Amino acid sequence: MLFLERRPLLCRTLQTVGFDPLPFGHPLAVTGRSSQWEALRKRFLKENPVCVVSGLKSDLQVHHVVPFHRDQSLELEWSNLRTVARPYHFLVGHLCDWSAANPDFDAHAAEWRERIARRRRV
Ligand SMILES: [Zn+2]
Repeated sequence: MLFLERRPLLCRTLQTVGFDPLPFGHPLAVTGRSSQWEALRKRFLKENPVCVVSGLKSDLQVHHVVPFHRDQSLELEWSNLRTVARPYHFLVGHLCDWSAANPDFDAHAAEWRERIARRRRV
């Protein structure tokens, strides 16, 4: 994950391309969400109000470790959900491709939490 170490460039790049999840018209845009999803999403964020990658407490989204488009039966499965700040959702959750999943998400999130905890200002 060398590219993550070039944070200023990465941040500028992400700002340039934008990273709204599955924008309207995207071929993978999700339809057929459960009527319970929005309430569950809000409850999950209320109970898990910190990004598991960065520790940020704003601009939070709920990530499905097994993506909804791969297994809709896990849409409402609490253990499949993680709170992630928007840029890290795209980067760590989906490896910069909304159609991709990151099967190592929890390990990568832990690695980045540790790196961030140990960071030093230079
Ligand atoms: Zn996601």
